[in-house]
Amino acid sequence: MYDVIIAGAGIAGSVAARKLAEEGNKKVLVVERRNHIGGNCYDVQDEYGVLIHQYGPHIFHTSLEPVREFLSRFTDWYDFGHEVVAKVGDQLIPVPFNLNTLHMVYEKEKADTLEKKLIDTYGEGSRVPIMKLRENEDPQIQEIAEYVYQNVFLRYTMKQWGQTPEEISPEVTGRVPVVISYDNRYFGDKYQGMPLDGFTPMFEKMLDHKNIEVRLGTDCADVMSFENGVIYFEGKPFEGQFIFTGAIDELFQCRFGRLPYRSLDFKFEHLEQDSFQGHSVVNYTVSEEFTRITEFKYLTGQKDCKGTTIVREYPFAYTGAKGETPYYAILEPKNQALYEQYQAIAKEYENFHLLGRLAEYKYYNIDAMTAKAMELADKLM
Ligand code: FAD
Ligand code: UDP
Repeated sequence: MYDVIIAGAGIAGSVAARKLAEEGNKKVLVVERRNHIGGNCYDVQDEYGVLIHQYGPHIFHTSLEPVREFLSRFTDWYDFGHEVVAKVGDQLIPVPFNLNTLHMVYEKEKADTLEKKLIDTYGEGSRVPIMKLRENEDPQIQEIAEYVYQNVFLRYTMKQWGQTPEEISPEVTGRVPVVISYDNRYFGDKYQGMPLDGFTPMFEKMLDHKNIEVRLGTDCADVMSFENGVIYFEGKPFEGQFIFTGAIDELFQCRFGRLPYRSLDFKFEHLEQDSFQGHSVVNYTVSEEFTRITEFKYLTGQKDCKGTTIVREYPFAYTGAKGETPYYAILEPKNQALYEQYQAIAKEYENFHLLGRLAEYKYYNIDAMTAKAMELADKLM
């Protein structure tokens, strides 16, 4: 009855479903354990009419033309360059640390000298990971690196990961480099912004195809089983393709032990005032137990709402307890080795494909995930 079954209606599952249904003319079933589509990109109006992102702030950004082109079939865009500030003492400083930030934290003469030094060393417009900047032995560059390390990275990273920047993969802190320009935008990509009507309507359009059926509130473990190289769907051997986008350790009953993930507790608050912080995202890099506060109206550009809704993010180590969600793979060689044990089980099934931030145990952005899903769909057609 189905040619393809996909577990998970996030960006990975939805993009793959659409391509396979449309271009491959496959009959696709998407099973999603939550009661909504969109995965972590899901957005919805809260009880006060404010459009919120249920699983934390999501901003689309990409330099990949085919990704932008594909998603643009399902949405128009509200183009904007997302900017983040960090609260350091009484100041709100632009993050990534850039030349504007430099001139805010040092007096003019010193800032001018340091600016020249940075440009001479790295070139105007370059993006230098903090861990690389720290390796530079020049005392003036050391001073900047130390400032950025102490005031932007150290405590935020300790909250987010429970580890210091030295202990985590450099790939992670490298996502927010020191930027040698006056560009305050958080991302360096060509296209940046939000789906004009929100993420969820974009997913609704993507999944709206005669060859796609979506079953919400359905865990794939309820309808599927995996034995001796054979995938079963509703008790019968399933010979079509199966794409899994959830946590692989869970699917195989954590038989080799749990894969470690970081999770987040989102605490939403609605305030009967026009504005709370005047910025979409304020990172708390030296104080507080939460990492950041998002004020949604500044993220989505929504004008027709009363009051304002904010969310604070409190990170913690995922334990697998009911109600917890794994959000971030922890990129470490020993975790990768454990992941590969689970991956090896999946490989025993020739029609079993792992796709997604959880299923691949990687740190993907929306655009990279879209590209990966497009690639897998092409391969399976
Ligand atoms: P998900 O979105 O997690 O979707 C997986 C889906 O599978 C979920 O809906 C889940 O319920 C379902 N599922 C899991 N197991 C099963 C099962 N057994 N049976 C059925 N269904 C199952 N990226 C950006 O590009 N920009 C951003 O600003 C950004 N901000 C982020 C902020 C936060 C707090 C987080 C955590 C991530 C952010 N990301 C951002 C990354 C982005 O969320 C991911 O790239 C994207 O959601 C990955 O899509 P996915 O489909 O792999 O996973
Ligand atoms: N980071 C930090 N301070 C900041 C912003 C980021 O220390 O103000 C570090 C932190 O370790 C974080 C990583 O850089 O996990 C990547 O940040 P990003 O904003 O990409 O994280 P995400 O939005 O994916 O949670």
